[in-house]
Amino acid sequence: PKCKWSLDKKDASCPVPHTFNPPRKAVSHCSVLPSVLDAYGHTPLIQLNKIAKSEGIECELLAKCEFMNPGGSIKDRIAVRMIEEAERSGAIKPGDTLIEPTSGNTGIGLALVAAVKGYRLILVMLDKNSLEKDVVLKALGAEIIRVPAAPFGTSDHYISIAHRLQREIPNSFIFDQYKNPWNAIAHYDTTGEEILEQTGGNVDMVVIGAGTCGTLTGVARKIKERQPNCKVVAVDPYGSILASPPELNDGPIKSYLVEGIGKKFFPAGMDRTITDKWYKMHDKDGFLYARKLINDEGLLCGGSSGSALAGAIKAIKDFNFGKGQRCVVILPDSIRNYMSRFVNDDWMIDKGFLELPAKLTTQWWWN
Ligand code: PMP
Repeated sequence: PKCKWSLDKKDASCPVPHTFNPPRKAVSHCSVLPSVLDAYGHTPLIQLNKIAKSEGIECELLAKCEFMNPGGSIKDRIAVRMIEEAERSGAIKPGDTLIEPTSGNTGIGLALVAAVKGYRLILVMLDKNSLEKDVVLKALGAEIIRVPAAPFGTSDHYISIAHRLQREIPNSFIFDQYKNPWNAIAHYDTTGEEILEQTGGNVDMVVIGAGTCGTLTGVARKIKERQPNCKVVAVDPYGSILASPPELNDGPIKSYLVEGIGKKFFPAGMDRTITDKWYKMHDKDGFLYARKLINDEGLLCGGSSGSALAGAIKAIKDFNFGKGQRCVVILPDSIRNYMSRFVNDDWMIDKGFLELPAKLTTQWWWN
């Protein structure tokens, strides 16, 4: 059907239900959980005290700590949901082969579920994504195909390669998170719902990095439904084309180092009408703010978290947010993916993002 990926409430032919009941079993995190598949979500919302102070921010600045999911990222939410919905519809069963194009975190989420449920998993990833992700994926038993970047729509693009594999491998299934409606719905049902619960509905701005735009679309829809005046702010790296108005994307379409956000095409599942303001972000700003989240707040997050925070700081100033207002910024993944990258002083210096080592050096003692 034409509305296959649409969540438009007015579209009566849409097969996706519009009032979603969280499909999760009522499990308490204080008790024994049936498996790790019940351990995703319910991530903490933590105040950023030192950063707010050093930036002269008077509103409450809160971080939604998605790096605390079992696989280390926000994508665990969609991995569980996409697999369980495909099982429910009869499209897949344990023993089948699952295939997905991913920048890594959806892959890790899917690998975790595949390991527990007994699926073979093949992931198609760009060569630019960190090798740390490979290590985790291999430990979980996933097979990885690394490919160089190619223009969207060509046969060498990583999404096209994933679709080609699916056609060639018997009993295989591709989720295609860029189109899959359960991506945004997972965030509508869980991430957005949790932010409303944790803030008691008192939230004036949410700031979200955009990749597949599943987080942005799902969280924004849930929050705007209950708090229509809440600002939704999205962050996109320079070199990507997602931001709007389109003039913001002026400048070369180029590669960038931050992982998980930005695209050179518009994902089919993206709602382009729901964002109040977009910010473009340089790699350097994102990485330096990610290091601040780690160093000042003890939040062991990844690079796109820094980009989102940098966007939040700009938005708080542009919207003149002050006392009594509340901004939530989503920190999508964990430091674990980037131990040899922005967390490492030598890498930062090599890329021109840092002039001098920022950290204490290790001292070794021998007898
Ligand atoms: N940050 C990181 C590290 C990610 O892996 C992703 C997912 N690609 C995002 C942000 C963006 O999330 P979404 O795909 O929901 O837009």
